[in-house]
Amino acid sequence: ADQALLAVVGADLQAPLIQGGQRRYVNLDYAASAPAVSAVADYLQEILPYYASVHRGAGFASQISTSVYENARNIVRDFVGGRPDDAVIFTRNTTDALNLLARCLPEPGSVGGGDVLYLDIEHHANLLPWQALPHRSVLAADSIAETIAVLESEFAAGPVALLAVTGASNVTGEILPIAELAALAHRHGARIVVDAAQLAPHRRIDLAGSGVDYLAFSGHKLYAPFGSGVLIGRPDWLDSGLPNLFGGGAVREVRLDSVSWADGPARHEGGTPNVLGAATLAHAAEVLAGLDQTDWQQHEESLRSALVSALEAIPGVQVHRLFRDSADYPGSGSIGVVNFSIEGYDAGLAAAFLSAEFAVGVRDGRFCAHPLLRRLGLPSGSLRASFGVGSRLEDVQRLADGVRQLVETGPAADYVVDAGRWVP
Ligand code: PMP
Repeated sequence: ADQALLAVVGADLQAPLIQGGQRRYVNLDYAASAPAVSAVADYLQEILPYYASVHRGAGFASQISTSVYENARNIVRDFVGGRPDDAVIFTRNTTDALNLLARCLPEPGSVGGGDVLYLDIEHHANLLPWQALPHRSVLAADSIAETIAVLESEFAAGPVALLAVTGASNVTGEILPIAELAALAHRHGARIVVDAAQLAPHRRIDLAGSGVDYLAFSGHKLYAPFGSGVLIGRPDWLDSGLPNLFGGGAVREVRLDSVSWADGPARHEGGTPNVLGAATLAHAAEVLAGLDQTDWQQHEESLRSALVSALEAIPGVQVHRLFRDSADYPGSGSIGVVNFSIEGYDAGLAAAFLSAEFAVGVRDGRFCAHPLLRRLGLPSGSLRASFGVGSRLEDVQRLADGVRQLVETGPAADYVVDAGRWVP
């Protein structure tokens, strides 16, 4: 099973040789952007000669592009188990998708109107769009069960339009029980949006089955190239909100001083659509849908637990988690993300050492989640290793070896700090 998962990301895409061809580069930063799967790279080559402007020409290439683009919506809807009438809107990324939804919420005081509720564990993309609207921010407790209880009392305190929650934390990798949260929101007459930027590349999502109203994710974390994302969900708010981009394609009729906007996805897709982005995102979704979910989950889980055990065995290394019940809470667990810090070492400098000495790429910093990092007691940041299909046990072992060497022997004496980075 592991060989099949490794083969999905071709060796040349996943692991370029660096350091003069001496070393296989180990990419442990999948949560930022995942390497393209081979089938997507091939598909891109296949459709590249045909791409043309979508919806805007009668020519052969334009017709092909239009059909590829429209079909991509159906593939994405199937991939996340969407309802037949859910709108599938292509956006630039998750950030764009969540900002789009924020512009479509009912007015406070109108039917369905109310505050937006969000937790302090969110990525800024699922926090800042709501902070600009009537909102209530909620501090998560140290268990999922208690966090749900805190949310329950917030719902009871006044009308809520929307609960905005992440499907899996980009900082700790912990998964939230979205079906239970959807039921909670619905019991109080509210809707739920799930930021699935991290969940969609790691777990199969059942939008209709879980009752989630809106879902957003990005192509570049789903083993597709950059530049495309998706918002999928109930069409009524989306058809009455202001268009995401004012311009060509988003309209029914334009007069010199007035406009009647289109309904459906076109309303929010002003300008020439990114057909290659949508098509490759959909193709990546098809590849993931073809993987055996159990094998895929076990592969990531075995890498995660090997890495956590290896790191926790190194003196001064601390692995960070949010919830004490994330391992056993129904529907939860963790995706392939491990967050840690090394006592006495600045995260940025440690990451630079791991890159220069061990050819391992990890992310350091505050992960666009400043409130969460503050609450984890890490105001100046930490380190994050993240992986997925195509990752190998030897990759996480190499990271652990690098961390152990740093702790036991320190950086090589000839390292200097240059503009905040260690360079040999
Ligand atoms: N939400 C989460 C949980 C994320 O991890 C990210 C990306 N780091 C985003 C939203 C934003 O994604 P994008 O940059 O593709 O808009």
